Parts: sequence; structure tokens; C-alpha cells
Amino acid sequence: MGGLATALRLAKKGFNVEIIEKNVQAGGRLNQIKKDGFTFDTGPSFFSMSFEFKEFAKDCNIELPFKYIELDPLYTVNFSDNPKTFFLYKDIKKLAEQFKVIEPDFEEKMTKYLAKSGALFNDTVDLVIKNNFDSIFAYIITLMRVNPTHLPVLFRSFWQQVKRNFSSKEAQQIISLVAFFLGRTPFDTMAIYTLLSYTEFKHDGYFNVEGGMYKIVEGIVDELKKENVKITYNTEIVDFVSKENKLEYLLDSNGNKWNADAILINGDAAVFRSKVFKREKYSLAKLDKMNWTMGYLTFYIGLKCKLPQVNHHNYYLGANYEEYANNILQNPDTLQKPYYYVNVLSKYNLECAPEGCESLFFVCPVPNLLNKPNWDDKDKIVDSIIADFSKRIDKDIAPEIISRTIYTPIVWQNQFNLHRGSGLGLSHTMNQIGAFRPSNFDEKFKNVFYVGASTIPGAGLPMAIISSKLAYNRVEKFLK
Ligand SMILES: Cc1cc2nc3c(=O)[nH]c(=O)nc-3n(C[C@H](O)[C@H](O)[C@H](O)COP(=O)(O)OP(=O)(O)OC[C@H]3O[C@@H](n4cnc5c(N)ncnc54)[C@H](O)[C@@H]3O)c2cc1C
Repeated sequence: MGGLATALRLAKKGFNVEIIEKNVQAGGRLNQIKKDGFTFDTGPSFFSMSFEFKEFAKDCNIELPFKYIELDPLYTVNFSDNPKTFFLYKDIKKLAEQFKVIEPDFEEKMTKYLAKSGALFNDTVDLVIKNNFDSIFAYIITLMRVNPTHLPVLFRSFWQQVKRNFSSKEAQQIISLVAFFLGRTPFDTMAIYTLLSYTEFKHDGYFNVEGGMYKIVEGIVDELKKENVKITYNTEIVDFVSKENKLEYLLDSNGNKWNADAILINGDAAVFRSKVFKREKYSLAKLDKMNWTMGYLTFYIGLKCKLPQVNHHNYYLGANYEEYANNILQNPDTLQKPYYYVNVLSKYNLECAPEGCESLFFVCPVPNLLNKPNWDDKDKIVDSIIADFSKRIDKDIAPEIISRTIYTPIVWQNQFNLHRGSGLGLSHTMNQIGAFRPSNFDEKFKNVFYVGASTIPGAGLPMAIISSKLAYNRVEKFLK
């Protein structure tokens, strides 16, 4: 996403751009599987901060090349020990209705919590998130300009912040779920990221794309074609030749040389420095010591029946949230009680499944390959999730399955060069954000730049769009 978006920004400003992609099709983690008559989105299933996409289209002077639809409810949440399904409405009154018995003053609490999350968002988005920093010093000076009332949240976890605001276990768990979208748990994510609660409930919400998320990629690739941007697929960059502080050319796995006045890397910013540039600071041992997001076990199921009882976006949680979240990154045994997300792409996109059929996408957060390198048990785990899901929706889906594809963290690692299969790249810990994250300009080669999840600002589609603007600014300034 970061690479495609920057390519379009540059091409629209008259630069001659060419893209080299390792895989058979564009999109990276935002990808698509077409199999047995079904269409599946492979990674992202919705996005937030739609205004970033609008700004991107405006910057490129185009109509946004895909249509998006607001989600309301945002998603549903179901606990294994509670027959009630929670609908996460954006309307706080409607949302509060569902907590009437367990947290009677939910509306006031949520309003207060969102006011704080909103202040965090508004005080950091332009200053910190959408900014290039040339040095750690410049970054720290900028941080000092952030409203000092936010200082205490630097020392709290997401969970602690939520716990200060809500007393029922259901509200605490539901409101803190969004921390999982950053690839860690609410217990090891900083409270500053409660700003995400504001983006989901208040500011803008979540959005689906008509026809599936991959329409974003298809739309941008079409725009790139109009600008004569050539994309060469099935070509992995594996080596380089440099002269002093300039990268002369990159070498691909077929022995081809690629050179340009400026080179932008969209492969993971830490992994590329390690695998291709072979930098000491990013040796494999040092990469392993960095803080990475969890892995994902994703699977794509085609059913020969419809599931009218299941909503579009759904979370299925167990009864041991704290224990689960505290163990998930380390202890593979936690998988015996998997928590998972189910997306029914064909619910509103009928063309994504044959008539009378349903296209399901399951995401289960799991340890990355550092903690669980062996996935021989993948079918057993998937079967256990399918059995749990069948129980929760009161329909055995196993006999209805006519298409089944599983991506373990090994697939994610090998397909997209993600370190140890870490789904979202580097975590967003204090020492891995802002100027402490691998920078979007190279330490050594003055003509090399980076874009994407493991450079600034971080993971997620809107962040990739912001990252593309930051990278564009660097490249444009360099080439001017
Ligand atoms: C399971 C899952 C669910 C997600 N859900 C959501 C969601 O609902 N909403 C959301 O906003 N975000 C979601 N995300 C996060 C989102 O997908 C990512 O943050 C975003 O897509 C990352 O984009 P990127 O620019 O870093 O590029 P990447 O997706 O990492 O793409 C990089 C590209 O570079 C190519 N490449 C890498 N190395 C080389 C090389 N050496 N030579 C040539 N090519 C190379 C890769 O093949 C790839 O095409 C999800 C991620 C996952 C894994």
C-alpha cells in the first residue's frame, strides 16, 4: 500500500516511476485470493481514517478509485460464557443500551473516555504522526510541544487507561480490543494509543470497500497504468551495489540490475536493511531482539450455504481475556482457547461467492515464529476454531466447506518478507516509534528511502497512506 501510494504521488508530479514486486500481484498484505469460485481479502478487512484516503486522492488530483461504505455497527463481540452478542454502534446512546445492566453509567463514562482519547488524537496527529523527523533531537523537541496534560498516559498501558474508565469486564474487554489492531495486546500497548478509540467510535469510524478491500489495490494500479508506471512482478530484490554513500543499483533474484536516481523500499524497513543491505545494526540476532507484533493464523473458507445469522465483522472471545492476552505472544498453549475474528465478505458483496454460498475470512492472533516456529498443527487449530464458531452460531459449518486455504505465520513471512511472520511489523513501543523507528531515509545511501508499516508512522492502511506522503516529501526534496 505504501509503495503503490507513493508511486502514484510521484508519477502524478511528473516523475518517471517503475515498481519491482516480489509476488505475482500487487498489494502486499492487502491482497486477494480467488479460488473455487470465491473471492477472499487476505489481510485488511476494513479501514479507519477515511479522510487520509480523501487527502491522498486530492494530492494526486484524482477521484478516489474505489467506493467505501461506513460500518455501523462497527463490529459485533461475542463472549464464550455469555449468550448476548454486543453490537458496537457509533451512536453512544445506542451502544450504552447494551451495557444498561452491567455498567449503568456507560454513556457518561464513554463520553468522558472519548473526550480524553479525542484530545490525544488531536494533539498528536499533525504534530507527531504526520511529521518527518530528521533526528532524535528534533523528535524530542516536537514531543515537548505536545500538551503536557497527556504526560501521565505515557506511563500507563492501554488496559490501565480503560480500567480507570470502565468497571465491567465486558466494557473493559470490548473497548480495549482495538489494541489488538496494533498487533499487540492492551496490556503491552501504551495508553497513548487509546486515541484509536476516538478514531473508531467518534471521529470517523470504520469503512468497507465495495467489492472487497482489494478494489483499493486494483484502483491504484489502474491509476498507475494511466501514468505509464511499469510494474515488474515475480522479481525479488536480493542484493545491491553501492559507491560511497550512493546506491548504484539493486540486484534481483534473476540477476537483473535496477537503478534509479532515487530508490524507495516498501519491503519491511528493518528486514530490508537486514536481508539486502546486511547492516550490522539489523543483523538477524538484533532483529530478533527488537519488539515485533504477533503473528496471524488466517484462513479462508468457502461455504455452500448462507449464514444469515452472522454479521459482517465479528469478534469471538473466550472467558479468560487477561490470561489469554498475557500469554498469546509467548505461550502457544493459549491456542487451545483461541480468540478470533470472522469477516463475511459475501454478506454485502454477493459477487465474492457463488450463488447461495458464503465467503468467510478468519483471523486468529497467534505467537509469531520466534515463539512458535512449528505449524504442523495448523489443521488441528483451524478445525478447533471451526468447531467453536459452529457452536457459537448454532450451525455446524464443517460439512458445508467447499474451499479452505490456510496462511500460517510461515506463509506470511515467506510471501511478504515479514520478520518471523510478524503480521504488522515492528511493535509501537516507546523506543520503536517516531524517530526511534527505522527511519524513512537510509542511514548510509542518500538516494534510498523507505515507506510502510515498519518505518514511520506505523501499521495499518491509513498509516501506510500517511507514510507515503512522508516518503514522497523526502524523495521529492532529494530529487529537486
Ligand atoms: C491478517 C492481517 C489483517 C490486517 N487487517 C487490517 C485491517 O483490517 N485494517 C488495516 O488498516 N490494516 C490491517 N492490516 C495491516 C495492513 O495490512 C498493513 O499495515 C499494510 O497493508 C502494510 O502495508 P505496507 O506499505 O507496509 O506494505 P506491505 O503490505 O508489507 O507490502 C510490501 C510489498 O513489498 C514486497 N516486497 C518485500 N520485500 C521485497 C523485495 N526484497 N523485493 C521485491 N518486493 C518486495 C512485498 O511482496 C509486498 O508486495 C492487517 C494486516 C494483516 C497481516
